[in-house]
Amino acid sequence: MALIIQKYGGSSVGTLDRIHHVASKVKQVKDQGHDVVVVVSAMYGETDRLIQLAHALTPDPDPREYDALVATGEQVSIALLSMALVAKNCPSRSYTGHQLGILTDSVHAKARIIDINTSVIRHNLTQGYIVIVAGFQGVTHQGDITTLGRGGSDTTAVALAAALKADECQIYTDVDGVYTTDPHLIPEAKLLPEISFEEMLEMASLGAKVLQIRSVELACKHHIPLRVLSTFREGPGTLVTFEDKVMQKRLISGIAFNREEALIGLSGIPKQIGIEGNILQALHAENIEIDMITQNAVGKNAMDLTFTIPRKELSKTMKVMDKLAKKYHATVISNSKVAKLSLVGIGIRSHHGITSKMCQTLGNADISIHMLSTSEIKISAMVEESQLDKGVYALHQAFELDKLPTEIQAPLEL
Ligand code: ADP
Ligand code: ASP
Ligand code: MG
Repeated sequence: MALIIQKYGGSSVGTLDRIHHVASKVKQVKDQGHDVVVVVSAMYGETDRLIQLAHALTPDPDPREYDALVATGEQVSIALLSMALVAKNCPSRSYTGHQLGILTDSVHAKARIIDINTSVIRHNLTQGYIVIVAGFQGVTHQGDITTLGRGGSDTTAVALAAALKADECQIYTDVDGVYTTDPHLIPEAKLLPEISFEEMLEMASLGAKVLQIRSVELACKHHIPLRVLSTFREGPGTLVTFEDKVMQKRLISGIAFNREEALIGLSGIPKQIGIEGNILQALHAENIEIDMITQNAVGKNAMDLTFTIPRKELSKTMKVMDKLAKKYHATVISNSKVAKLSLVGIGIRSHHGITSKMCQTLGNADISIHMLSTSEIKISAMVEESQLDKGVYALHQAFELDKLPTEIQAPLEL
């Protein structure tokens, strides 16, 4: 008998029919003799609706009340799923994060799980219940409700798998697993039977929302076998595992993209020691996270600084930048319509020429690159958002990601 954690995302529980379908899948595992803990997201679109509601009321919702509101979506879906199981004669109980003592820090809207009290879950499991847990939420030491950031139910599932020492953590979603790129954008994308934790971390941080980045970090840290599967179709899905266990290696495993970026340039800044630090500190003080950044000296006395930020932070950032531009007699420009596309693969570490092939491919597709950055296993390019889809398509073809590794003429040795 195994202990299995299953997580069902918003689209998997988006309608009552789908909730019935999920209940049947969960019952099947229980009937095979396993213990099951199920983590559920809010019904499809519900979290977005709650966020819009908060912002319609006030442009700057109180963080404590914001979390209290957006966490309610999951309370609905857990109760519905539990009812569906009971209706199938399957004893089940639902719990919110607060009821279970999923303890987090107090950083509202992006809280981190600190500890989970597993006694209630274990007690229920020994009594033969299926335990249904609200994803995405926790509670602080002070008893305030918190949420874990968008996509946070994945993290709840992995954190529970670690705390309960589960045998496997299964993430059920609306696609068959992790693909070479988002299959909703590129239908030719290929399913990856396995992907390394390292690559999955990059894919998640660069915009592939199929897994929340924190869930991948936790699974890697606690050695949790993590599998992404479809709720609607049978299949092996994708196993996220350690690099040495990945059998089917590719030079590039995938292309991730993020449409929600904005670019800011500050030019004609006086060239003084420490000035970059002062500028970045002013942004940090406003909790603005910078993504890519380049600095270059245009002459002896002046320099330019260009960086990207999440698009939703643009107006807040521009307020800071306008002040800085005045202070340093510099000029500030912004572009709110940029997007980042990234190649991810462990092959980048050991092969030359990938950045040049990427740039040539984008150039041949008539796409201009605003910024470029490379690290050990990823290469990112910032382009106009209107060019993103074309860029992903061109790179997907150029790096033969639309083919299975066995179909590639001269597979590269990794
Ligand atoms: P859930 O609601 O089940 O948590 P999400 O919408 O958060 O589902 O994540 C699944 C979605 O991730 C897919 O529908 C797909 O559009 C998107 N996605 C982006 N990149 C990838 C990728 N490389 N492989 C699979 N899905 C991806
Ligand atoms: N319901 C939350 C969201 O939409 C959490 C999740 O789906 O994982 O972000
Ligand atoms: Mg998700």
